[in-house]
Amino acid sequence: MSIKIALVGNPNTGKTTLFNALTGSNQYVGNWPGVTVEKKEGKIKWNKEVILTDLPGIYSLSPYTPEEIVARNYLVDEHPSAIINIVDGTNLERNLYLTTQLLDFGIPVVIAINFMDVVRKRGTKLNLKKIEKELGCRVVEISALKGDGIEEVAREAIAISTKKPFFKKDIFSHKTEQAIEKIEKIVSGGYIEERELRFISVKLLERDEEIVSHIDLSEKGKKEIEKIIKALEEEFDDDSEGIVISERYDYITSIVEKKVSGKDKISTSDKIDRIVTNRWLAIPIFALVMFSVYFIAIGTIGQWMTDFANETLFGEWIVPGAVSLLEGWGVSPWVVGLVADGIIGGVGSVLGFVPQMVILFLLLSLLEDCGYMSRIAFIMDRVFRRFGLSGKSFVPMLIASGCGVPGIMASRTIEQQNDRKITIMTTGFIPCSAKMPIVAFVAGEIFGGGIWGAVVATGAYFVGIGAVICSGIILKKFKAFWGHPAPFVMELPEYHVPAPKNVFKSTFDRAWSFIKRAGTVILLASILIWTFQNVSLDSTKSEVVMDVETGEAIHGVHAHEIYDEDGNVIDYEMANHDGPHFIKEGCTSKSVLQVLGEGLSIVFKPLGFGESWETSVATVLGLVAKEEVPGALGTMTEGRNLSSAADEFFAHSRLKGLSFLIFNLLCAPCFGAIGAIKNEMNSKRWTWLTLGYMTGLAYALSLMVYQFGRLVRYGSFGFFTVIAFILLAIFLYLLFKPAKFSIFGIFKKKKA
Ligand code: GDP
Ligand code: MG
Repeated sequence: MSIKIALVGNPNTGKTTLFNALTGSNQYVGNWPGVTVEKKEGKIKWNKEVILTDLPGIYSLSPYTPEEIVARNYLVDEHPSAIINIVDGTNLERNLYLTTQLLDFGIPVVIAINFMDVVRKRGTKLNLKKIEKELGCRVVEISALKGDGIEEVAREAIAISTKKPFFKKDIFSHKTEQAIEKIEKIVSGGYIEERELRFISVKLLERDEEIVSHIDLSEKGKKEIEKIIKALEEEFDDDSEGIVISERYDYITSIVEKKVSGKDKISTSDKIDRIVTNRWLAIPIFALVMFSVYFIAIGTIGQWMTDFANETLFGEWIVPGAVSLLEGWGVSPWVVGLVADGIIGGVGSVLGFVPQMVILFLLLSLLEDCGYMSRIAFIMDRVFRRFGLSGKSFVPMLIASGCGVPGIMASRTIEQQNDRKITIMTTGFIPCSAKMPIVAFVAGEIFGGGIWGAVVATGAYFVGIGAVICSGIILKKFKAFWGHPAPFVMELPEYHVPAPKNVFKSTFDRAWSFIKRAGTVILLASILIWTFQNVSLDSTKSEVVMDVETGEAIHGVHAHEIYDEDGNVIDYEMANHDGPHFIKEGCTSKSVLQVLGEGLSIVFKPLGFGESWETSVATVLGLVAKEEVPGALGTMTEGRNLSSAADEFFAHSRLKGLSFLIFNLLCAPCFGAIGAIKNEMNSKRWTWLTLGYMTGLAYALSLMVYQFGRLVRYGSFGFFTVIAFILLAIFLYLLFKPAKFSIFGIFKKKKA
């Protein structure tokens, strides 16, 4: 009879090296059915009775990655006689995490600590005796590369293969072990073998859906188990998967580190975390923190400084100064128009946000540097996991609140392809720094800043997070995204007083890149807008306003027709030009920009803000850079500033403002981020799907907000109200329709 021995370990720990050393060339390479993960099988050179299997490298035994599924199915279905667990001696802590899981399996384990040549060279001392004693299994030091100890480890594995497995029963805290024991009692009997009890019970405690759906549990049993889990979660104020993960780590730390003498004191950090990461208080506290940040940065102090910059600095000093300077030099009027209206109007309205942005960046980097933001990732992991997303997705999102491009690139840390795709598709929903001016414009100019402004700004942030969560729930229901969230392990740093150097540097970096963009991309875009605004489509319909004395056109000044009741033009109204002029008859014309904008605005009419074409132009220009959205509004308004933009384009309608904000926050991101999406997806189809999905969701939400708002506020009901209701129904259906996915065949065999 042959003995089957499995090689299990993290990636790059030397499994294949050991496998080749033990089997020589006598090996078999093949693919596992259904998964493209390679397995290798071979006989040991000096004992052909022993079949060695080189399993794919894994970090844990959850059914989250194809590698984990292969390894887990192999251990459950093939039930090898022994496991050689290869551990990287230079990274004990990370490696032993998997070891603690293997010990649940009821298969004898021998630990092979590899890379001993490196460990010795570094002069690190490993307390192997202690590990051996604690874990209750043999530990052999090897160097797979040099061939040291490899025969010993194989002989050890053969020797233990006939032994009864040893279950390590005190990895977890007393309370958790008790819960596991209770679950074992409920599931024991039936077809579950004795040796599988512990593994299955721990997995049930973690609510591992694979296991839940494949063992034959009565409804009563399920309810009892849920009660046990709930009680434990109450006790530890965390979800059960989180408890199991963190207790495994605690256990490993306790055996790897030399115990520091002295009593464990509860640190101040822990005390703060008890409140800040509390299951019920965490989110309200986070909302309150963000509200305070926006209240200071956008609602009050920042707003005052920005008002000063817009009205006094640009409005009274810079623009009039530049105009009189240029006129003094005698440059032609169109240059004056370009500089004063186009460039200073556009770039100025973006630069006007600098004070608000500086305060915002400063506050956010304070939160980051003191350690609070890592708590947010931790809290969000809990929220995300409940909705089938990995907390790992939140790290890219935290980064994306600075800029979407590095955020999207950070999705690389997610090993699971499904989750990674969802993360790439949704990271752009988080308001990045470039979107903050849009938020600040709506919150400040349309909602008038203060408390309401801060509510709108905080709301914008949570709309972003909400869009991510809803998308996660909805997308997970499509086959392309099936799968379970991977666990996310992070260490929370101690809270500490922020280092001024870090804070100032990160604030300065972010503010400077903001200013740089205003000086480059925004400058170019403003010049383009001004040009298109002053060029008419038809040459016979040239500039309208003419100087009385010279008969020359006065550029940069627009005439609006004034109609009588029958719709005949009776007069022209001039903006910012009082000098003597006449209107060349029949010469009213539309600028190129207006023609384009009016075409576009048909699309946005149902969203409310499309009623003025300028908002559509601004929205589309957001593709270049999101700061350009208010920038373009600033260039196109007659008063050349944002408060007149709020006036002219939104008629100070808060509803239009909200719908404009939501659409611009959630729709396709700027070209930079689109490029990042394309790179990470590495597929044209998926890039288009992402852009389509984002824009579609943005459109649907804005439409609902505007149409329902009008219905509630003015009782107006029309065709698009019906559409809004239909969209709402589809949205709710997708959100609440039961998810069903089960892709792994574990335990199925036995049930049959
Ligand atoms: P696997 O992913 O677990 O199969 O790991 P591999 O067998 O492919 O080994 C990963 C890398 O570690 C290779 O470059 C090996 O040459 C190297 N390696 C494996 N074992 C040892 C060892 O004991 N000492 C040293 N220095 N390098 C090793
Ligand atoms: Mg390998």
